[in-house]
Order: sequence, then C-alpha cells, then structure tokens
Amino acid sequence: MKALIWQGKKDIRYETVPDPRIEHPRDAIVKVSSCAICGSDLHLFDGFMPGMKSGDIMGHEFMGEVVEVGKDNSVLKAGERIVVPFTIFCGECEQCKRGNFSVCERSNRNASAADKMFGHTTAGLFGYTHLTGGYPGGQAEYVRVPFADKTHIKIPDGLTDEQVLFLGDIFPTGWQAAVQCDIEPTDTVAIWGAGPVGQMAIRSAVLLGARQVIAIDRVPERLAMAQAAGATTIDFANESVLERLGALTQGKGPEKCIDAVGMESHATRSIDALYDRAKQTVMLETDRPHVLREMIYVCRPAGILSVPGVYGGLIDKIPFGASMNKGLTWRMGQTHVNRWTDDLLRRIRDGQIDPSFVITHTVALSDGPDMYTTFRDKKDGCIKVVLKP
Ligand code: NAD
Ligand code: ZN
Ligand code: ZN
Repeated sequence: MKALIWQGKKDIRYETVPDPRIEHPRDAIVKVSSCAICGSDLHLFDGFMPGMKSGDIMGHEFMGEVVEVGKDNSVLKAGERIVVPFTIFCGECEQCKRGNFSVCERSNRNASAADKMFGHTTAGLFGYTHLTGGYPGGQAEYVRVPFADKTHIKIPDGLTDEQVLFLGDIFPTGWQAAVQCDIEPTDTVAIWGAGPVGQMAIRSAVLLGARQVIAIDRVPERLAMAQAAGATTIDFANESVLERLGALTQGKGPEKCIDAVGMESHATRSIDALYDRAKQTVMLETDRPHVLREMIYVCRPAGILSVPGVYGGLIDKIPFGASMNKGLTWRMGQTHVNRWTDDLLRRIRDGQIDPSFVITHTVALSDGPDMYTTFRDKKDGCIKVVLKP
C-alpha cells in the first residue's frame, strides 16, 4: 500500500510499504477514506519530538471503513464506517475506567521507555514516536487499529467525512481545552494560537458561554476565521499581547488562558524568545515555552491555564513563583478523545457546529509531502489539510 513515511527531519515521503495485517484478536484493519495533517505532526516533521525512526508511517487523525476484524472483536464488523481516535486505549485498565483514555496503562507497547522518560507510561498513539508505542499511523491506505473493539467511534449515516473526521483529534482537543477552563458566563478566555486546535477551542469556548473570547496569532486568515466565530483578535507580530489583554479586561487579565501553540512558539519582540531559540538549537532545552510565560504573567490571580499545546521535554525560565503566588490552576494533557464523543457527535448532528469549517485544502495522499511544508509555513492560506488516499 501507499503511505506517508517519516524519513528524517523535514523529510516526509509518499512510498510503498507492506500492508498491515491483524496481529491481535482485538484488532481491526481500516481502509482509510480521509486523513488529516495535525499541528502535532509538525513537531515530528521539524524534528523537535524525540523517538521517531526512519520509515515510520505518519498520521493520527483518520477515518475509514473496517475491512477486517480479529476473532475476539465482536464489536466491529467489516463494512462499518469509523473515525479512529488518536489515543489508543484498552477500555479496561484503571485509567480507562475513569475515562482518562490518553493515559491508558496498557496500550503503549513501549511502556518501559515512557516509564523512564515520564515516570509513568501514557497511552499508545498512532504515528507518534516510539515513546508512545511506535504504532504505524493513518496517513496511509490501510491501518491496523489495536484494541479496535474500544478504539473507534462509529459514525451514523448521513454525515460526511469532513463533518466527523476531526472527532478523532482536533475537535475534542479544542473542546477539552475549553472544558478544563471551567468557563463561567462572566469569563474572558484568551486563546494563544489560532491554528486548527485554537479554532476548535475558540468555538468551544463560545458554545460553553464565555463572555469574551480573545484569539492571539499573527496569521491574517487565521485571525479572520477567529473573528468569524465571534472572537476579538490580537496580532502578536504587531501588538503587545500583554497590553492588549490588559486593556480588554479593565487591567485585570483574562480569567482563563489556553495555550494552543505548544513547543514551537514564535515571538517577535521578546528577549526570552531569542534565549529559547539559542538553547533549543544546542539541545539545552527541547521546547520553546514563550506562551506559557505570557499566560502565567497575564492570567488573573486564581485563574486557570489550560494547555492542549504539546510539549515534549524540558523547558526553562518558567516564572513559577508568579504562578504559585497568583494561585493559578494548571490543566493539560493529550486529549481523552472518546470521553467527549457522544456530546460532540450530538452537537454536530444538532447543527450546533460543523467542524469542516476549518478545512482549506483537500488533496490526494500523494501530495502529502508538499502539504507538510504548505501547512507548516502557512502558505496559500492553509489552515487545515485533508488527504484522500
Ligand atoms: P498549528 O501549528 O497550525 O497552530 C499553531 C498556531 O500558533 C499557528 O497559527 C501559529 O501562528 C501560532 N503561534 C505561534 N507562536 C505563537 C505565539 N507566540 N502566540 C500566539 N500564537 C502563536 O497547529 P495546531 O494543529 O493548531 O496545533 C496546535 C498545538 O496543539 C500543537 O502543539 C499540537 O501539537 C497540539 N495538539 C495537541 C493535542 C492534544 O491532545 N493535547 C491534539 C492535537 C494537537
Ligand atoms: Zn493531533
Ligand atoms: Zn486502558
């Protein structure tokens, strides 16, 4: 079959690889109808996330038709249409029983490596480094889905791929980021990053009743999309984020802050950004935490910082004293995708939201390698790419 493989830093290729096959009785094989490139894939493309090997199949946001199931999988049948959540989960361990699917204790087949790095293992993820299991991803014609009797979302008839594809990642990710803010009707929610995750967080914060939503980015079409959802926008390349946030909140700061940027944040007017670039280049710091510093500084005391943006390792010069003394609450994590499925699928069916609004590019899987660059560099108005195998 054909797939997009990670060959090395900034080197994604469209190549022929062996077809997946059933390896465990709970597995399923899915023929992919649509898949997407996620901001998390960019961290692998740019070489900032450790643990990739050349030849790894990329992709963790995908859906398609079940074509084969293992003999113990009585939940799925060939011919069914499913979205596959990016977090692989067993459904039986203590964490899964609590709905903490992204920290499933059993689905990471390289658990000992994760144990060493993080103190505990987290869930297996598709197409996302050998620290999270090294599972082949979904930017491919076919995928093996481990624990497929649990790791799936069945799609009712009458909904297009584009309407439901993002139930596997960015929609619940933006939603979880907003839910973790415990939004009150009087709240201002400030969201750094108006990429696909930021866009979903903006709409989620609006749906959850925030008084004011403020989106921060520097890409004009992303800011325009945020405005269309009702957000006030700040262009961090041309305005002071801290001053504008102060002015928009009577000097008090937003009660809730969401980091939808993660480890590759940019900054145009700060010394800390130069410091991070230098340290990241010589590998003394893995991630660039400029947004985290801004959030700690500007958040209203007793507020909440919610971090869906991905960080991989070590960060530096975090004003923890400010965070502690201001009594800030931190919420974060990879998304517990299936925890939110029923609610979000209902909202799509009710017409409260159609997540396809974020798609700007739909191309063949074979165009994937070029699209990684287009998406990363925000060329051609690119906000979200869907690939068709
Ligand atoms: P993206 O790269 O398209 O979006 C990031 C946006 O942040 C860009 O528009 C960029 O211009 C903007 N940005 C950069 N520096 C900024 C700054 N200093 N202030 C404000 N905005 C800034 O990616 P995406 O798909 O939207 O993903 C965003 C983050 O969410 C990534 O880190 C990704 O890994 C993460 N993510 C996490 C989960 C999860 O489960 N927690 C799931 C999906 C994605
Ligand atoms: Zn993702
Ligand atoms: Zn589990």
